[in-house]
Amino acid sequence: MSIASKITELHNELPQDVKLVAVSKFHPSECVMEAYNAGQRLFGENRPQEFAMKCKELPQDIQWHFIGHLQTNKLKLVLPYAYMVQSVDSLHLLEDIEKWGSNNDKVIRVLLELHLGAEETKHGLTEDEITEILNSVSKYPHVRFCGIMGMATNTDDESVVRADFEHIAALKQRLVASHPDLPDFKELSIGMSQDYKIAIECGATIVRIGSDIFGPREY
Ligand SMILES: *Cc1c(COP(=O)(O)O)cnc(C)c1O
Repeated sequence: MSIASKITELHNELPQDVKLVAVSKFHPSECVMEAYNAGQRLFGENRPQEFAMKCKELPQDIQWHFIGHLQTNKLKLVLPYAYMVQSVDSLHLLEDIEKWGSNNDKVIRVLLELHLGAEETKHGLTEDEITEILNSVSKYPHVRFCGIMGMATNTDDESVVRADFEHIAALKQRLVASHPDLPDFKELSIGMSQDYKIAIECGATIVRIGSDIFGPREY
């Protein structure tokens, strides 16, 4: 199926209130344009250089989401262009984003990335860290906290995936309930090509879909 027809199919399939971030990493700008011409406007990338390059050369009305591990020395490649950084995975990174925002007079939208226990290799914050951050948002006037992001355990076992998503969804609900002070804190970014249907059942407001749209990646 072509990229354009895949986009159309997903736009028809996804509930109105679920946003589709098309993950175009490792695919050339021509592929992004094919999706763009089919009406897609939200795109996600996970490598700073590629992110900056595509942001500069592609249409300005694209909403770019950064979804990868971000090192402090790469902030300047990402933050000038990012609509949102979905992958804030350490306190250190959050503090540096605040510093960059302060120096550049910009407020950065972020999602806090929850580390789901089962995966040893992935980055992310613990629930306690997320709770603590949200209890001290006044330290981060240049950060807008928009919700949380997470990845399910990498397994074919749907019940494990569902349990992960239900866990993160429950955390989000608790945080929303305890933070009427944060009206923007409402996004739950869960779900990729393999598991987005389960994610939507669990309350996803953003899904991040790559290979299902653009085909397999050649690393
Ligand atoms: C690559 C990536 C995706 C998309 O994965 P697919 O399986 O290709 O849909 C989603 N989220 C993050 C954080 C990614 O790095």
